[in-house]
Amino acid sequence: MAFRPTRIEIKTVEQLRIMVRAGKVLARALDSTVAAAAVGVSTAELDAVFARVLQEEGATSNFLGYFDFPATICTSINEEVVHGIPGPRRLADGDIISIDGGAVVDGWHADSARTVVVGQGSAEDLRLSQVTEAAMWRGIAAVATGTHVGDIGNAIDDYVSAVPGKPLGILEDYVGHGIGTAMHMDPDVLNYRTGHRGPKLRPGMALAIEPMLVRGGIDTKTLADDWTVVTTDGKRASQWEHTVIKHAGGIWVTTAHDGGAQQLVPLGVTPVEP
Ligand code: MG
Ligand code: MG
Repeated sequence: MAFRPTRIEIKTVEQLRIMVRAGKVLARALDSTVAAAAVGVSTAELDAVFARVLQEEGATSNFLGYFDFPATICTSINEEVVHGIPGPRRLADGDIISIDGGAVVDGWHADSARTVVVGQGSAEDLRLSQVTEAAMWRGIAAVATGTHVGDIGNAIDDYVSAVPGKPLGILEDYVGHGIGTAMHMDPDVLNYRTGHRGPKLRPGMALAIEPMLVRGGIDTKTLADDWTVVTTDGKRASQWEHTVIKHAGGIWVTTAHDGGAQQLVPLGVTPVEP
């Protein structure tokens, strides 16, 4: 995929501060949902936990009703990569599930996903999730240290390629995105290295960075429900995502309680709240 010409929404500091509030709500909602993800719990029950926190916090869902999506989170289990629909399926010991949710506060959006290995997971699945999360943080750090959007994908790709052990695949069918007054905006944020630098990273930009890694091939297909994306070879997948904002003073991860400090400081980036 090549970069398209883009119209990127540049936010004021005041607008970025509302995005920080939306991100904090989303972080709390995902905390509760991840805590509830245990053997025997249905994905519909996880959706209810998430929806209740949004309601308590006075936020609304950007997932519910999006192209008629029927829930507030996507729950993607094992070979499901993204866009799984919550329902009666109950989590089993050793499942790997990605929980992707969003929140809107005063018209401004947040988008974030975490992977959970349920019960006694395999070492391979734990590694898959850990590498995906670490790759995401490399991509986020590049928003501070890089000059162009393409630097994010380069950082993710370089990290994943250098990880010792069995190689993991980076999905190319689905990518990160700009975010602000809508959930999905320009620019595309690719998770892999290309020959294109992409648009310049500028203060006022907000990006959702969301690498999706697989233990097998990167080919995917969409199931008959028109939503659930699975790996064609049935191998397991992981997704991690945060919303990050860039401003004149630095970057801040809106969907992390500490702006991302715990993971970014060791990478040489100290987040600064706008
Ligand atoms: Mg998401
Ligand atoms: Mg997203």
